This record gives sequence, structure tokens and C-alpha cells, in this order.
Amino acid sequence: MQETIHELLKEYFGYDSFRPQQEDIIHTVLAGNDTVVLMPTGGGKSLCFQIPALALDGITLVVSPLIALMKDQVDAMVANGIPAAFINSSLSGAEINEIQGELERGEIKLLYIAPERLALPEFQMFLKELPIALIAVDEAHCISEWGHEFRPDYRNLQRCKQILFPDVPIIALTATATPKVKDDIISQLHLQSPKVFLASFDRPNLFINVKPKQQASKEILSLLKRHKDEAVIIYCLSRKETETLASALKKEGHKATAYHAGMNSEERRIAQDRFKKDQVSIIVATVAFGMGIDKPDVRLVIHYSLPKSIEGYYQEIGRAGRDGLPSECVLFYTYGDTRTLEYFIGAMEDPEEQKRARVKLQDMVDYCEEKGCRRNVLLKYFGEVGGEQNCESCDTCTTTKEMFDGTIIAQKILSAVIKTGNRFGAQHVINVLRGSKSKPVLDRGHDTLSVYGIVKEYDDSALRLFFKELVAKGYLLKDEIDTNIFVFKVSPQGMEALRERSAIELTQPPVTLSKTKTSSSRTSAAHSYNALFQELRALRKKLAEARNIPPFMIFSDKSLIEMTEYLPQDKESFSKIFGVGAQKLEDFGRDFMEVIRRYEKLTTK
Ligand code: ADP
Ligand code: ZN
Repeated sequence: MQETIHELLKEYFGYDSFRPQQEDIIHTVLAGNDTVVLMPTGGGKSLCFQIPALALDGITLVVSPLIALMKDQVDAMVANGIPAAFINSSLSGAEINEIQGELERGEIKLLYIAPERLALPEFQMFLKELPIALIAVDEAHCISEWGHEFRPDYRNLQRCKQILFPDVPIIALTATATPKVKDDIISQLHLQSPKVFLASFDRPNLFINVKPKQQASKEILSLLKRHKDEAVIIYCLSRKETETLASALKKEGHKATAYHAGMNSEERRIAQDRFKKDQVSIIVATVAFGMGIDKPDVRLVIHYSLPKSIEGYYQEIGRAGRDGLPSECVLFYTYGDTRTLEYFIGAMEDPEEQKRARVKLQDMVDYCEEKGCRRNVLLKYFGEVGGEQNCESCDTCTTTKEMFDGTIIAQKILSAVIKTGNRFGAQHVINVLRGSKSKPVLDRGHDTLSVYGIVKEYDDSALRLFFKELVAKGYLLKDEIDTNIFVFKVSPQGMEALRERSAIELTQPPVTLSKTKTSSSRTSAAHSYNALFQELRALRKKLAEARNIPPFMIFSDKSLIEMTEYLPQDKESFSKIFGVGAQKLEDFGRDFMEVIRRYEKLTTK
């Protein structure tokens, strides 16, 4: 019996459910329709053709513009036990022959190629003999001159429908959503009454922040403290700026490296590779960086200088948090930066181009000076209307209201988080602060702490807002240890504020309600998960190095976090962890469970 698409999702990818739209798209493809998918970066486009490829008899041909990405995608699939391969100019003739043999024997389900290969008559003949079931055109905007990455080679794809495979359905995918590009894709590829799927371009897991560019280097250091050892991209305007900043960060003990178009391609490849493999955590780059990178666990994207356009900016911040975990984007804004950009614009030859560039720059400036929700501005820019009034995860939504001197209440909250051990949800800490007699508080003896019952003037909901704000401002760190279950700990910045007794501004909460119910929902007895997480992370890195693939291809951060939460110690429970499919269970289950078991023994002694 054929496996259902849900079974394929769990077996090969280790996921329990589809993201919005994926399921509809897959059904449409499987029904033999031409399909266009417009979905933001990180939305999960690849699954939309990978699952059909597994479900269909025959071979799925994937056209992809970048050789570097092709290898990554194939490596990731092979790690999941999916028979995939690529053919491009980086392979030797003998290697290509071998893959062609495998294709003829039906041993490969997905074949990645670059578009120029389709122009080779010999290769066309070879393909014609294969049972091609589906053609996926990735980064399909490359076919359009209206897109920002036009590639003449993509025009070879016109032959697919017209000459080579008139009866094979095509799925075209892109993160560029403008109507012109979409129409171009449909006409250039000769798609037959295609179904078009347009996903929201919102990225709710990104906290979007624009800060004045004052003492930016100091601010960057404190951001990096908060994102210690995590993957960070810092975008600069010039080569020189990348080098100066990278070496300044190195002096501070950070593992940082510069990346710009002045480096030769080998140097760039090495920098990119080390970043992907977590050997350096911070890449300080010009906008030249990013095209060939598909790292899902970038936690912070900083714009040290003003981007040229909202399109570029959104694409760059889109490289944060592709795995869906909370991530942060910070732009340092000063109007002075427009002068440098204006200088570049002045050097353009075509007056029309100059005009377009100025409009784009002005949009960018307006965005930075926006007083309302930044997310709304961005979504409106991309043609989405009617977003929430308050997204709760951009700087203006979390700070523009009436402020007051919240130093004392902030100190109380931070102290309570510390006294309870930096490992509980907001509600538990609030219960302690408000002197609740709830069972979890009494059971843990938290009624004997000096912070017990020291807050009388605020209710639960006001305190929850303060929690949120202290997170947004960097005094508290919030970890999601399970879907929607968060624990808080005081950040280095918060420790410093306590020590220095720094003034902390907070937003005035709405009129305080009088008595409120004390609820003890969602308190979480988090294990000191950071220690185990670090051990699992180290194991992941070791296994990745042995296989010469990036650590995220072994398991994502989210998978590791689930392991620290559920502590699986047998095959069955391990296989329930996010991202654990059949192949990874087989390849890595034992090693990870061994670390978990050892850790459990140590901590329960
Ligand atoms: P895109 O190509 O749209 O930028 P990807 O296909 O690379 O996005 O997917 C982004 C990340 O989301 C990948 O790590 C992928 O494994 C993950 N992902 C995709 N679909 C799901 C799903 N249904 N459940 C969980 N994770 C998913
Ligand atoms: Zn907002």
C-alpha cells in the first residue's frame, strides 16, 4: 500500500504536521496540476516538491540556480534517507556517469540540475529516456527580468513544456511575490492553467527592531552577549567596514569573520563553509553574502548600516530563524547613512534607475522612522493588508506607549527570576512575587524566598506585560522548551542592570485591575536544560564533522530542545522527537540517547 503524505512526512522528515498551505500544494501537485508557490524564505517550499517526489512513481527533476545550494539540499535529503543526487559542472565525467546509471536503474527519486544543463542536447536525450514524473523549478523568479536575480539560463526552461516534457506537471517556487514576476513565471514556463498559492509573508518568529545608531558597537557587543555562540549575520555597507568590525569583534573574543566581494571565491567559500558548520558564529558581511546560504539556525541579523531597499532588507532579515524559532533582527539607523547610499545612486548611469533607487531608499528611511508597527509597514509593502494593530514583536509595538520609571518593579522581577533558579515560566515567578499559595509554589518551598509576596501594586496581567517587555529589552532571556512553554532567565545585561542599579524604563500597563485570580497554569519544571543542550550540541557538531556536513543537517535546534524536554531513552520515544525520521533514528539515535542517559544519571543522583 502507498504511504500517505503524512506518513512520508514523519518517516523521511520526522515532522508531525504540515505548515500552512503545504498540504494543499502537495495534493494539487499529486493531482497532476501545474502549480506556482509564492512563499517567504523559511516557509517550507522544498517539502512541496520533495513529498510528491517520494509519493510519485518515477523521477522528480529539480532545477536550482546555485551549485552550492544544490549540494546542501541533496546532502540534507540523503541524511534523511531520501535517494537524491545532483548533476552539475562540479562533478567529474565518471561521477556523472555513475549517477546516470543510478537514474536508469530507478535508484534515484530526485535529481537536481542547473538550468544550463537542459540546453545540452545530449543531456536532453538522456532525460527523455527517463520516467520524469514532476519538474520543480526552484527560485523561479530567476526566469523573470522583473525579478531582482534574472538569469538568462533560466530561459532554457521554456523547452520543458514546449518540447521536452509537454505532459509532465511543473511546480514553480519562489519567495518573490510581486504580480509581474508571478505572471512572467507562468508565461515563460508555459504553465497550463496553474494553481497559484500565495502564502503570507509574515515571519512571526522574528522580533524586528530599529535602533538609533549611537554607540552601535557597544550595543552590538551586548546583543552578541545575549546570542552567545549562536549564528549571527552582521550586514555592513562596505568591505572596509566588514573588516574593521570583524577584527574588533575578534579582539573581544568572538569568533567572527568578514565576507565581501573583494575576497576571492575560495576565501569566500571557506568563510561560508565555516559559518555553516558552526566553526565561526558571526559573519560580518556586505550584501554579497547570503545567496548561497541556507542555514536554518541564524538567531540574529544585524544591519550595521542602512539597507538600500525594503526588498533587500526583508530578504536579509529573512535569513534569521528559518527554522521557526524566535530570532532577532536589529537595524542601526542614522539618517547620515543615506549620504553614502546617495553617493552610489549618483554614480548610476541611467536616470530612470536613479529615480527608482531614490524611491526605494526613501521607503527604507520612512520605514526606519515609522512610529507604528514595523511589521505592518513591511507586510503592506508586499501587498498584504489588514495585519494586527499590535504585532507584539517589533520595537514600536513594544515600546511606544507611555513610559514610567520601572526600575523597582523590574529589579523585583529580575531578582525573583534569579532566586527561583532561572528556570520557570513567567506565571510561576509572578505567583511567587504576589505571594500565591498555589501548590507548585509551596511544593518547591518558594514561599520561603525573600522575594515571596513582595509585589502588591500590580496584577498578573500587568506583570506579564513587564515580563514581555524585559525580554524585548534584553534583560530577560526567554527559551521555548516546548510548543508555547517558555522559561525565563536573567541575561548578562539584566545582571548588569541589577548590579549597577541602572534605571529601567517600562511601559505603563493598562489601568490595574484590583484582585485577580492566581493561576498556576503553564508553570514548567524545566530541567537546567542548557547544560544538556550544550552537550547535545557538541555531539551534533562532532557527528557533523565526521560526515563533513553542517550540524543542522544532523538535527535542528528545535530537535535538540525537544530532547532536553522529553529526555527520550528508547527508540520509540526518540522517534517521536521533532525532526527524527527513520533514517536519523537509525543513524544517530543511539549516540544522542547515550548522552541523555548519562546526563539523567548525573542529575538524578
Ligand atoms: P524555503 O525553501 O521556503 O526557504 P525550506 O524548505 O528550506 O524553506 O524550509 C525551511 C525549514 O523549515 C527547513 O528546516 C525545513 O525542514 C522546515 N520545515 C518545512 N516544513 C516543515 C514542517 N511541516 N514541519 C516542520 N518543519 C518544517
Ligand atoms: Zn509591531
